[in-house]
Amino acid sequence: MGHLKGVNKTMLYTCGHKIPDSDSIIGAISMAYLQKELGHETKAVRQGEINPETAYILEKFNLKTPELKTNFAGCDLFMVDYNNYTEGPDDLKDANLVGIADHHKLGGLITSAPLEVWIRPVGCSNTVIKEMFDYYNVSIPKDIAGAMMCAILSDTVIFKSPTCTKIDTKACKELASIAGIEDFKSIGMEMFKVKSQVEGVPTRELVMRDYKNFDMYGKKVGIGQLEVVDLSIFDSVKDDLLADIKKLKAEDGNDTVLLVLTDIIAMGSQILVATDSPDVVEKAWDVKIENDQFWLKGCLSRKKQVVPFLEPAYK
Ligand code: MG
Ligand code: MG
Ligand code: MG
Repeated sequence: MGHLKGVNKTMLYTCGHKIPDSDSIIGAISMAYLQKELGHETKAVRQGEINPETAYILEKFNLKTPELKTNFAGCDLFMVDYNNYTEGPDDLKDANLVGIADHHKLGGLITSAPLEVWIRPVGCSNTVIKEMFDYYNVSIPKDIAGAMMCAILSDTVIFKSPTCTKIDTKACKELASIAGIEDFKSIGMEMFKVKSQVEGVPTRELVMRDYKNFDMYGKKVGIGQLEVVDLSIFDSVKDDLLADIKKLKAEDGNDTVLLVLTDIIAMGSQILVATDSPDVVEKAWDVKIENDQFWLKGCLSRKKQVVPFLEPAYK
């Protein structure tokens, strides 16, 4: 018998959000391990294809890619790195949600029974999961620790993001030491170089690589983000990216689609805009959209510097 209340079935699934990033995939793996140690039969799964950065991390630490799973009706589920319906499986309402480990704003989930909830305003879900390991006094295997360290470096943009807290840097350093890694920042840079390889990648794949849907006061909004070490790599594809987000806006019935091109060295983002409400977008940051784009100095985080500005502008 495991420790979690409300687990009905033999298998407990751990899974992150749609269009999974490294935090979602590694979080599913680390949570599956933790819950297994706490007495449950677990399986880490994913809702979509993994991105090149995540593939790099999994290979580096010899971890298996979680299986694809998109139907959860009747299944016991511990979700990581999100807590809303839009980023969940389509049948999430029919799943038995037994736990959440996350670092996002509340997104309106309703459950039929009490559940274990670990949500903190930190830079990464794997930081929260590291605290869970400590709380339950479960030691973390080397390879999983290394991957969790990478997830924190990714989500916090190597500690540069305004979402990064002292709790994240502390967790990251402890995980690096468990993994026997000294120069973790150079591994972080290596990851962002992998992330920066956009040449030859189909335009739509780039737009969707780290893309989230939002409901902002009844309007559909899509926001993609690409974090790279040098924005000039987009010079040759920017027109294609713009054309594609316009197409995507029409296809999905969005009011706005933004593509946030983040330069992690220059510390800012070029925002490509496709919108039916340019006044709302301009009001959000007090900017002028020119040639369907604008520059946001200091902007690294969609969660903290994009969504909280755009959403109230729709009110
Ligand atoms: Mg995520
Ligand atoms: Mg995350
Ligand atoms: Mg991210």
